[in-house]
Amino acid sequence: MVRSTGYAAHSSGALLEPFSFERRDPGDHDIVVGILYCGICHSDLHYVEDHKRNRRFPVIPGHEIVGVVNVVGSSVSKFRIGEVVAIGCMIDSCRVCNKCLGGRENMCVERPTLTYGGFDRLSGRPNFGGYSNNYVIDENYAIRVPESLDKACAAPLLCAGITVYSPLRRWKVGPGQRIGVVGLGGLGHIAVKMARAMGAEVAVFTSSLGKRDDALAFGAHQVVMSTDSAQRASLKGSLNFILDTVSAPHDLNTYLDLLQPEATMCLLGVSPEPLSLSPMSIILGHKALVGSNIGGIAETQEMLDFCGRHLITAEIERLPLEQVNVAYERLRRNDVRYRFVIDMSKTGTNGAF
Ligand code: NAP
Ligand code: ZN
Repeated sequence: MVRSTGYAAHSSGALLEPFSFERRDPGDHDIVVGILYCGICHSDLHYVEDHKRNRRFPVIPGHEIVGVVNVVGSSVSKFRIGEVVAIGCMIDSCRVCNKCLGGRENMCVERPTLTYGGFDRLSGRPNFGGYSNNYVIDENYAIRVPESLDKACAAPLLCAGITVYSPLRRWKVGPGQRIGVVGLGGLGHIAVKMARAMGAEVAVFTSSLGKRDDALAFGAHQVVMSTDSAQRASLKGSLNFILDTVSAPHDLNTYLDLLQPEATMCLLGVSPEPLSLSPMSIILGHKALVGSNIGGIAETQEMLDFCGRHLITAEIERLPLEQVNVAYERLRRNDVRYRFVIDMSKTGTNGAF
């Protein structure tokens, strides 16, 4: 077995603390990745904090991983030792259903094996995430990182990036379109950069007055205080598409009002409380309210390559693994600009075991 260490929460709402565990021995198709960087996604915080769902503990969160290949199995052809590699939200799936065969492993009928909080399909062991020193993964579920991207700033692309890229592509966001991004956090700020690179006109809706200048610097054409109903109303019926990345309860209906007829709002944020929908918000104007969940492996590679060409990465605050609880406390208060990334590159081991 591969010995590993990380930071785990042992129960809902608990602080994360040092934890030792084992990963499966690398098989013929596996690589062992020494983790250099891991982003802290709001979903990690939801997992640790959401008392209502029956989550599995202990948990080591982390699904925005960039590292270096330390070991390759005998049949590995995609990666070489020393190569920079990324791991996102899923590490396996059934591989035979229509969704998997069509490159939509994120919608696998058996549900994909997530990077943490589930069980490894081969060994049956619990899966632990990227706030740790290494990961054992089948090469087919790992992603190549373009050389043009800073490795630490690229880590958040593995969840935040693909989560916004996939719907932007599916709804063909591009020139001549006016789109809205609600919430300027980890997902939101990458969505602004991508939508701008795709040629759309972007309006950002933020509840944080202090984010205005940043939003403009990321490429937004317009910044609307989401708490100001008059400002919001000025965009009534004008948007072709909205990405909603808000992590907390909020009013969907006010944003649906801003869509043009037959346009779509895509929900990405996972409010821990149910959101209420007024039927007339979508009936009038034949509007669509949809959801989207990360993306497939090929699409994640496509997204990283897109970011490599357009030099899109996250704005990050680096911190050592020992300060992960400080990051969680600040994330809870919406005090992050715009993604925390745990920096394990200076441990000198590159996750070696
Ligand atoms: P984040 O960095 O914390 O950003 C969330 C943003 O929501 C905040 O920056 C804030 O933006 C806004 N917000 C927070 N509380 C609010 C409130 N009470 N009222 C109004 N706005 C509020 O989180 P993230 O990592 O981007 O994740 C966002 C959500 O997406 C989370 O729920 C996460 O679990 C979910 N997620 C979903 C997927 C998927 O596949 N669907 C993947 C990853 C994450 P402003 O300061 O600009 O208002
Ligand atoms: Zn995530």
